[in-house]
Amino acid sequence: SGYHKVLEENRQLYNQVQDLKGSIRVYCRVRPFLPGQAHGQSTVDYIGEDGNLTIVNPAKQGKDARRTFAFNKVFKSAATQEQVFLDTQPLIRSVLDGYNVCIFAYGQTGSGKTYTMAGPRVITEDNWGVNYRALNDLFQISEQRKDVFTYDVAVQMIEIYNEQVRDLLVSDDANLIPVASTSAVIELMNLGHKNRAVGATALNDRSSRSHSVLTVHVQGKDLTSGTILRGCLHLVDLAGSERVDKSEATGDRLKEAQHINKSLSALGDVIAALAQKNSHVPYRNSKLTQLLQDSLGGQAKTLMFVHISPEVDAYGETMSTLKFAERVATVELGAAKSNK
Ligand code: ADP
Repeated sequence: SGYHKVLEENRQLYNQVQDLKGSIRVYCRVRPFLPGQAHGQSTVDYIGEDGNLTIVNPAKQGKDARRTFAFNKVFKSAATQEQVFLDTQPLIRSVLDGYNVCIFAYGQTGSGKTYTMAGPRVITEDNWGVNYRALNDLFQISEQRKDVFTYDVAVQMIEIYNEQVRDLLVSDDANLIPVASTSAVIELMNLGHKNRAVGATALNDRSSRSHSVLTVHVQGKDLTSGTILRGCLHLVDLAGSERVDKSEATGDRLKEAQHINKSLSALGDVIAALAQKNSHVPYRNSKLTQLLQDSLGGQAKTLMFVHISPEVDAYGETMSTLKFAERVATVELGAAKSNK
């Protein structure tokens, strides 16, 4: 019967979810060379099935030129949006069972963060990013379970720029918007992207210097027992991680760079504190970590997509991205004491 089918699906999902609970997973995605760009030498020397990735320093020769990193998974530049989503799906579905999930896109500007989370500039269903696929999947599963559970879904989209939080969907305080279909979400996200562009000039491409957070709140009611489950999915497109040359940046650019550094390192510090089971977890050091406090640590599940550009002249940023990711990847959040 429908009920047993749902229970069986739940059990399978539950088993998949147990693997993920409390840990942080790190997936690395390599951007392809872009059309019109000379396909020069790539810094990516080797990608293994096991999540290993070897980067080669273009200025060096021999063994010293190579450095290998280990992640949960590495997606080659040929990986499709669908393949990338498939590995994320169990995590996303667990939101329907009351888990909190955070998915981050990290990397330097131009490495493919927005491509992974939303898609390319001209979005069709084929190249939908994780955002649309996630919501589409949540609606599909809730439809399949409708004889057993009813779900309410609501979204919020905010931007954090220079440590200021701005709601991208509404101007009053009702910041959670109920949604019932993927097309409603697409409409809202288009509005959010339009609002995000307001105030940006050609010289100040604000979207690469701000974090955007799409939060999906799910409330499920078990129709038999009346039990209510609440889960939350945060989809975070982080500001570009590139370091800004302090000697060159001045004024607004310097201020932006300082805010970005501060919040990205606050994120790293929170994860490190959870890993070391410190009694104090410094959630309050940035707006981003404050906002995500309930979804980092404890029972929550975290996935970070780290993005790298293959070009030789991105080598320095690629190495610092991968070193940050490596620090994050070694973490077990499960055993951490929550300090809320
Ligand atoms: P970021 O958000 O990190 O600044 P973008 O997502 O805007 O980077 O990507 C930069 C450019 O590269 C865009 O034109 C985007 O469409 C393209 N791009 C990124 N990743 C891919 C990919 N996996 N396949 C094809 N094009 C990509």
